[in-house]
Amino acid sequence: MSNLSEEEIRQKLTPEQYEILRNGATEPPFTGKYLKEKGEGIYICVVCGEELFSSDTKFESGTGWPSFTEPKNKKHIDLVLDKSHGMERVEVKCKKCGSHLGHVFQDGPSNSGGNRFCINSVCLNFKKIKGGVEYN
Ligand code: FE
Repeated sequence: MSNLSEEEIRQKLTPEQYEILRNGATEPPFTGKYLKEKGEGIYICVVCGEELFSSDTKFESGTGWPSFTEPKNKKHIDLVLDKSHGMERVEVKCKKCGSHLGHVFQDGPSNSGGNRFCINSVCLNFKKIKGGVEYN
């Protein structure tokens, strides 16, 4: 699904999702549907389905966005210097489809490497997995 055209991606997403995933916008804090999600499973890219983050690394950061200490697989993401808005931040993108996911900051738990992957809920779908099987 990574070879969707830009127009096909647009049709798949809400206007808010499109602004965030394809134009690098940010969802308002404390609004995302996965902010308080505590279930076990894998967070996948809403555009292409790539496995991006595991619930094992999710933590409550207090920032208002779903936060993870690390990606599920470093090969599934791209980290890119983002100089927009007068800041220098490291942007997190889905490697497979190039969509913007959020940013990575260094204010995460020090006992887990200190990184905080700050990810917009609207960029994700949650695949619930228990005992190795996916369920609804
Ligand atoms: Fe993707």
